[in-house]
Amino acid sequence: MSHQFDTLSVHAGYVPDATGAVMPPIYMSSTYAQRAPGEHSGYEYARSGNPTRGAFEKALAELEGGAAGFAFASGLAAMSTVLELLDAGSEIVALDDLYGGAWRLFERVRNRSAGLKTRYVAPDDLPALCEAVTPATRLVWLELPTNPLLKVADLAAVVEVAHSVGALVVVDATFATPYLLRPLEYGVDIVLHSVTKYLNGHSDVIGGAAIVRTPELAERLGYLQNSVGGVLDPFSSFMAIRGLRTLALRMQRHSSNAQSVAEWLAVQGSVEHVAYPGLPSHPQHELAKRQFPRGYGGIVSVWLKADDAGVRRFIAALKVFTLAESLGGVESLLNLPWAMTHASIPEADRVRRGITPNLLRLSVGVEHIDDLIADLRAGFAAI
Ligand code: PLP
Repeated sequence: MSHQFDTLSVHAGYVPDATGAVMPPIYMSSTYAQRAPGEHSGYEYARSGNPTRGAFEKALAELEGGAAGFAFASGLAAMSTVLELLDAGSEIVALDDLYGGAWRLFERVRNRSAGLKTRYVAPDDLPALCEAVTPATRLVWLELPTNPLLKVADLAAVVEVAHSVGALVVVDATFATPYLLRPLEYGVDIVLHSVTKYLNGHSDVIGGAAIVRTPELAERLGYLQNSVGGVLDPFSSFMAIRGLRTLALRMQRHSSNAQSVAEWLAVQGSVEHVAYPGLPSHPQHELAKRQFPRGYGGIVSVWLKADDAGVRRFIAALKVFTLAESLGGVESLLNLPWAMTHASIPEADRVRRGITPNLLRLSVGVEHIDDLIADLRAGFAAI
């Protein structure tokens, strides 16, 4: 990377074209004129290649330091296309906890349709990982940090274990973004993002991305992207590029606001526990400090000392935090994973993982910190 990340995110993927347009044009054409059969400008049909999507994909590759980037219609479309790299019946080891939709894709869809078998180990249990990974393991899958418990795996150690048996390592770095963590630098093979979240950053696009480390994986995933077909549309690609331009600024503010919110929550009487990698009380705080030197992101999970009715009164009292699924936009959001994002996981599994009805996941936005704290204070007063 020749420039600092902040500079790169403003320019990545595009230089002014022949018209001088500073932002990439939105090419809506589904097909492209050919001079003679098979003789074209590099674009023939927009599923296979589109200049606006191409600019976003190039930017992704530059920001992650990968051989190539691929943009998909959603985070889940990116994940399911990556799973197509595996042969039927392959074994996966996943570091739990996982986004509920990832669990649903593994267990309810690909187990049935492709015979994929997934074993789950805790992200902070290296001996368990060493035991679970065998020569039959084809893929090790993790989120960094995890959703919603914000656990932090030791990436260098995970890569070493997985690569010792020739398994690919896939990191869903949606919560971190390349501003906070560049997994490919650790030897990770594929980085995934729900572009819907921080990369786009304004809660107005559904998109996904996969960035690969090697040209060999670029070839294979490019073939699958075109063959499976779940590509990001040109308008969303443009929006996502616009989002990337402010990624560094937004992540700085998300991280500083979330750090302040987490510290404030940790000393409130009606709080049972706060999970945030930037708190010294976080079990992997020392590791997090090394892996995320620029900050810990915008997600804070908090367990309230309140029954169901109290939790609901807390939620109802908030005016700046909006109750909604998703995260990573400039506005602060609040989610009850038990009943919302993680409801697809069986109840016993949710409880075992600590996803209880008093757990709230905050996506701390870029508003003024005083307004965020005042809003949360009103929530506590209502419990
Ligand atoms: N990965 C993580 C960590 C997520 O939080 C989500 C969605 O919440 C996804 C993947 C799925 O992305 P999408 O909703 O864009 O399909």
